[in-house]
Amino acid sequence: MNIAVDGPAGAGKSTIAKKIARKLGIVYVDTGAMYRAMGLFFQRKGISAEDEAAISRAVKEVHITISYADGQQKVFLDGEDVTIHLRTEEAGRLASLFSVYPAVRKKLVELQKELAAQQDVIMDGRDIGTVVLPDAKLKIYLTADSRVRALRRYQELKEKGEVWELDVIEKKIIDRDYQDMHREESPLRQAEDAVVVDTSDMDIDQVVQTVVRLYQDKAGKDRADREA
Ligand code: C5P
Repeated sequence: MNIAVDGPAGAGKSTIAKKIARKLGIVYVDTGAMYRAMGLFFQRKGISAEDEAAISRAVKEVHITISYADGQQKVFLDGEDVTIHLRTEEAGRLASLFSVYPAVRKKLVELQKELAAQQDVIMDGRDIGTVVLPDAKLKIYLTADSRVRALRRYQELKEKGEVWELDVIEKKIIDRDYQDMHREESPLRQAEDAVVVDTSDMDIDQVVQTVVRLYQDKAGKDRADREA
């Protein structure tokens, strides 16, 4: 009974997925955090995002592991809890640069599939409905106007004490989406069987209600099919 959530940067995927996980009693898997941890790993090693040979070699040594407590995902990089270092703009940019490489993706997709095989999950990212969980019960493509996404990110950063100009944030969001949509390996795209939810004019509770209703409809339909 897995749920896949994909979409561009700042569409609210993690906020929504976390709430839905709590409502449905399933586990929220944040795959972006795994790519961010990878970015941190290469940065610490001093490996450039252009050096594919070095990246493919180094990726064999890295250990990224995940734990869950009280619905919170923690990401460990070679045994160190790096969770608090992952939500910055810089970590997102690095994640996007290194996530283009097949060796990086292969390693993380394996981990993600393992997590989904062990329990019911709602997993968010860029290739969840298309590559990681092609058989997910429900696939959502969550999107919003880039200005709206920039405004939300601006507020989020401000609350954490990071002050940015709105135009700069919007440009960063647009650049990251472009990179994620135009890479060769598993680009961000809407799965054919995904439901598009545009959150530009919705608040968090409305989005959560919409997705939960879609999920319950699917589950109800499945039950009816089984009983027929
Ligand atoms: O979702 P989040 O903003 O944390 O993702 C950071 C970056 O990691 C994305 O911009 C994308 O390049 C990469 N990513 C990916 N595939 C995923 C999740 C994230 O390529 N499933």
